[in-house]
Amino acid sequence: MFPASFGYVAAHSVEEALELLTQQGEDAKLLAGGHSLIPAMKLRLASPRTLIDLGTISGLRGARIDGDTLAIGALTVHADVASSDLVRKRLPGLADAASVIGDVQVRNRGTIGGSVAHADPAADLPVILTALNASFVLQSMSGNRSVAADDFFTDFYTTAMTAHEVLTEIRVPLPPAGSGTAYVKLPHPASGYVVVSAGVLITRQASGSCASARVALGGLGSGPIRAAGTETGLQGKSLTPEVIAAAAAKAAENADPTEDSYASAEYKRQVATVYTRRAIEAALKRAVTRNS
Ligand SMILES: Cc1cc2nc3c(=O)[nH]c(=O)nc-3n(C[C@H](O)[C@H](O)[C@H](O)COP(=O)(O)OP(=O)(O)OC[C@H]3O[C@@H](n4cnc5c(N)ncnc54)[C@H](O)[C@@H]3O)c2cc1C
Repeated sequence: MFPASFGYVAAHSVEEALELLTQQGEDAKLLAGGHSLIPAMKLRLASPRTLIDLGTISGLRGARIDGDTLAIGALTVHADVASSDLVRKRLPGLADAASVIGDVQVRNRGTIGGSVAHADPAADLPVILTALNASFVLQSMSGNRSVAADDFFTDFYTTAMTAHEVLTEIRVPLPPAGSGTAYVKLPHPASGYVVVSAGVLITRQASGSCASARVALGGLGSGPIRAAGTETGLQGKSLTPEVIAAAAAKAAENADPTEDSYASAEYKRQVATVYTRRAIEAALKRAVTRNS
């Protein structure tokens, strides 16, 4: 399959990319790893007249600590997120998610910024980044703004980002002591994309009870959804297996998953319960390990 013919220009800075976006208007698209955009172009789901390649911009790769935040450049590829010592030590749930994306080739080319901007409802990173309360830095000609993950993913393949902005950085608050993070997914056996997934950030008090919990689910809607019933079911409670199981059972209570050729809505709800419990257990194990 061939895409419609298109022009190509490499940007050497975010400012240059923004100028090119303004010049080219709606007919241009930013290109990062190309692992979602190029297949869409080949399927003629997208036919941009010009691609503006961000891949030649330096300074948008890698993870660093910035105060109480882990800042990750938008062009950091999934493999580098998965193998980053900083990410693995401070936010292992994010490394979990990056390491189960597609295959080696996809992880070596696909970028965290591209995944967030593309907002595929079956993608991994939007889910764990929502659980981790990440925010996304968007640069435009008029400056920078930051949008929280809870407000960013607005619909299928749709975000709060405008066509005149470049996502430059993903900022994740470093969790306090006593916290654990985890991400688990049931992958589609053919594509590897999410059928259902769960991302968890949980913080326990010295007494062992739950100080706070954020739980996000993938595969159940147009984008990541918060499992509010689960979060409430954990908050302030002693984290016994019974409490965790009861909270996980509420994971999909406000979700309205669609049936598809692989999984019924009822199956997705059941998987959400089981995978939410597994993610909570894995996150708690890490919270204990890191603080013992
Ligand atoms: C075979 C295969 C299997 C895959 N499996 C999975 C999977 O299991 N889980 C999963 O989550 N994903 C999966 N993916 C998708 C993969 O993770 C993509 O790499 C990712 O979704 C998009 O990142 P990219 O860098 O390739 O973006 P691109 O394809 O280059 O761009 C995607 C979109 O984002 C926009 N964009 C990119 N970067 C920016 C930026 N910095 N600022 C503003 N807009 C930007 C582009 O204009 C475009 O609209 C798979 C892909 C393939 C081909």
